[in-house]
Amino acid sequence: MSHDLYREQLLDHFHNPANFGVLEPADVDIEMDNPTCGDMIHLTARLGRDGRIASVMFEGQGCVVSMAAASMLTEAVVGKTPAEIDEMDLGQIEEMMGGVKLSMGRVKCALLSLNAMKQGLRDAGRLA
Ligand code: ZN
Repeated sequence: MSHDLYREQLLDHFHNPANFGVLEPADVDIEMDNPTCGDMIHLTARLGRDGRIASVMFEGQGCVVSMAAASMLTEAVVGKTPAEIDEMDLGQIEEMMGGVKLSMGRVKCALLSLNAMKQGLRDAGRLA
C-alpha cells in the first residue's frame, strides 16, 4: 500500500471511527492515557458465553495514530479470546494499519488501545 493510501485509511478511521461510544453494561471498562502524546481512551467490551469478545466500543481523543488504531482494533478483536488478544503485539498493530513501520514516537500511540484492552481484560479477571 502506498504511503498516501495508508495515510488516507488512517484519516478515514480518525474522522469516521468504527464502534465509537460506550457499551453499558460492559464486562471490560477501562480508561487509559498516553501522557507523552496526550492521547486518552475509554474502552468498553462485552464477552460472549464462549468467552470470546462479542463487541467493543471506544471513545477518546488524541492523535490520528492513536484514534485510528483504536478504531481498527475494535474491529480486529471481535471473535478473539482474551488469550489471543494477549498475544497481539506491535507487529500485528502495524499490519492492521496497512503494513506501516511506526516511528518510536508513535509506538505508544498505536499500542494505547491494545494495552487498554489487555489491562481491561486483566482487571475484569478474564486474563491471568
Ligand atoms: Zn498519540
